[in-house]
This record gives sequence, structure tokens and C-alpha cells, in this order.
Amino acid sequence: MVPLKHKKIICPRCTGNGFFKVKESIDRARDKVVQCPMCNSQGEIDEEKVNTVYVNADGLHRLH
Ligand SMILES: [Zn+2]
Repeated sequence: MVPLKHKKIICPRCTGNGFFKVKESIDRARDKVVQCPMCNSQGEIDEEKVNTVYVNADGLHRLH
């Protein structure tokens, strides 16, 4: 039997960079680079994982 291999897709949060920029604060419009928590800075993510995680304006959410 062939073991089921998880398909990797580009992380939607950082679009494959492994990090993304956020504004430091509302007052200071400086960009701050943060490591991507969704893919652990890998830039790609298991397709299976994407089905249970979604991102909206409030941040990262995990479905059960
Ligand atoms: Zn990512």
C-alpha cells in the first residue's frame, strides 16, 4: 500500500514567503516583519491543514 502523502500548498497567510508585514501600530505606520504562525515560516502548508484553519479580519481561527 502506498502511504497517503499530504499535498503541500502555498501558505495563504504569507503567500509562500514564510513571513509577512504588519503595521507596527496605528500611530506609527512602520512595517514590522513577523514570522508566519500559520506555516511556521515554511511558506507552505499541508492542504489538509488549510481545511481546518481560516483567516479573517480578526486573525487566525481553527475549526473543530
Ligand atoms: Zn505562512
